[in-house]
Amino acid sequence: MVKSKSSENELLFVPLGGTEEIGMNFNLYGYGNPGAHDWIIIDLGITFGDDTTPSIDVILPDPRFIVERKDKLAGIVLTHGHEDHLGAVPYLWDQLRCPVYATPFTAALLRSKLEFEESAQDMEIIVVPLLGKFDVGPFSIELITLTHSMPEPNACVVRSPLGTIFHTGDWKFDPDPVVGLASDLGALKILGDEGVLAAIGDSTNAFVSGISGSEAPIFNNLSEMISKCTGRVAVACFASNVARLKTIYDAASTNGRAVCLVGRSLWRINAAARQTGYLLDLPAFIEAEDADDIPKDQVLYICTGSQGEPRAALSRIAANDHRQVKLGKGDTVIFSSRKIPGNELSISRLQNKLVQNDVSVINDENGSIHVSGHPAEGELIKMYQYVRPQIVVPVHGEPRHLKRHAEIAQNCQVPETILVKNGSVVRLAPGKAQIIDQVHAGRFVLDGPRIIPLESDVFKDRMRILYNGVVVFSLVLDASGNMLGTPHLTTHGLVEEDEMPGVLKSISEEVEDALISMSDTDVMDDKKVNEVARIIVRRSFRYTHKKRPLTTVHVIRIKDGV
Ligand SMILES: [Zn+2]
Ligand SMILES: [Zn+2]
Repeated sequence: MVKSKSSENELLFVPLGGTEEIGMNFNLYGYGNPGAHDWIIIDLGITFGDDTTPSIDVILPDPRFIVERKDKLAGIVLTHGHEDHLGAVPYLWDQLRCPVYATPFTAALLRSKLEFEESAQDMEIIVVPLLGKFDVGPFSIELITLTHSMPEPNACVVRSPLGTIFHTGDWKFDPDPVVGLASDLGALKILGDEGVLAAIGDSTNAFVSGISGSEAPIFNNLSEMISKCTGRVAVACFASNVARLKTIYDAASTNGRAVCLVGRSLWRINAAARQTGYLLDLPAFIEAEDADDIPKDQVLYICTGSQGEPRAALSRIAANDHRQVKLGKGDTVIFSSRKIPGNELSISRLQNKLVQNDVSVINDENGSIHVSGHPAEGELIKMYQYVRPQIVVPVHGEPRHLKRHAEIAQNCQVPETILVKNGSVVRLAPGKAQIIDQVHAGRFVLDGPRIIPLESDVFKDRMRILYNGVVVFSLVLDASGNMLGTPHLTTHGLVEEDEMPGVLKSISEEVEDALISMSDTDVMDDKKVNEVARIIVRRSFRYTHKKRPLTTVHVIRIKDGV
């Protein structure tokens, strides 16, 4: 599939997810003769459904390209534990069946997700230490610790005989990340001196000037905010942000408040963190049911649901539907989070409900109680000054982010930048880096327990039903093709009960007329009758309801003597 006239070894980068989008990261590196490359995967994440995929929460990358080459797949290396980097491993691993390499916190999170995934029970998870070095297939990997909005964000140095790749994962430079190590700038300088062929990296905040900001100052700002509250306080944050859990805990206890976790994913992350040596200086968090007797001004809840997710704790609290936690007049909800683009409406809906319950709502208006985990322009510049790559391939961004990231790299005198999309096959070496092919890179949706292609008829029909409704038209014919009795018309999502007799009458008459005008041979052909009736039904709804419903026609023929 990868075209090359040469038989010499080559070094390839193939993103199958996570470019021209933020989410679903899925990167392949290949090394070897054209047609016989050995492969590794770095990250295998999910993305979440949006208003273009109603009823779907989880979207997965289509792994077909690498499944077809799985005998040459040496392993999956995970940079960190965010869903957009490891969320697809439990669902897709069964098709790949190779070792998974992760640092302790990421491995603990992955294990906690495997509990209910039968097909992934025999997954070999190889726990590698921070700053670890290990070989996977033809590559020698070294991890460099960076900082991010969760513990253990690892950049991967991928060494091959044709050059060294620096795969950043998600990162920022934070001199005081509160939990975990600060970015290992020394290792970056050494790497730059050794020489980096290509940097493949995070573009999320390429439009943000300056730097992303440190976690440490949030403590003071939050603590001051909490000190002004007299009722109950709830703080919404991203569950995976372990440093923020500590910051919130410290700010609460400074103000004499006990801290209670509300939401399953917070407890899951808390368990993984404590298991792997984080948050050990904090006492255990309190369960919501144990907080009932604590006076209002001595309790603080940390809640999931900062993005207005309907099933998360905060939405249930706002709807007065949470068994243990009730908020009302005099209470305050602080959003220690950003609004992820696309979630603005659901966040507004949530905040309106809170306000209707007389709860005060505080947002992060000026970055005082939330900082991003991704590099702003100033950090990208600093990174390229350290690492000095020959080639930069921006990933982890929408097309505009990738383009802006490439411009920043060019301004840093990076000689080559390449804009890729999912499925681009980039030959990084030998010779000038270039895109040499485009391979399949689709999407799957998690539909209940099944994984089906986004382009499948099942999912297309679902969308059609949602927007246009369903019609089933059944007619009975005698052996000569005459209509017997009145046909049956069943519709869903289209026709009011009192409209039905009129709609049925008009369609039935039109179909009967059409049957009369068909030739004797055609009217004996069920397929032809079906098609004629289907066209009439569809045309009728297009005209009367301005809809294109999913239409099914049943033709039942009563033979003589039956
Ligand atoms: Zn991340
Ligand atoms: Zn990410």
